[in-house]
Amino acid sequence: MASLIPCPHCGLRPKEEFSIRGDASPVRPAPTASDESWHRYVHIRDNPKGRIVEHWHHALGCRRWLVVERDNLSHEVFGVTDAADWAKRKEA
Ligand SMILES: [Zn+2]
Repeated sequence: MASLIPCPHCGLRPKEEFSIRGDASPVRPAPTASDESWHRYVHIRDNPKGRIVEHWHHALGCRRWLVVERDNLSHEVFGVTDAADWAKRKEA
């Protein structure tokens, strides 16, 4: 895994300052969505190889939630975005 993560708020920081919190790709269903939709959102995850997006928490830095795009095979980091900004981009 890359040893330095480019936090958009703190700059390059060691990966040990972050907690990986899981897949950032699932889209939250509407409150009225079916039980099956909620089951898939809460419990079902793909296990892809290659480029993925994950929620990371900069626990020992700015304490912001981030979305890290990286390759889980080569550990190359393609980009890091504040999770609030990433959510706004997804809605647009
Ligand atoms: Zn930070």
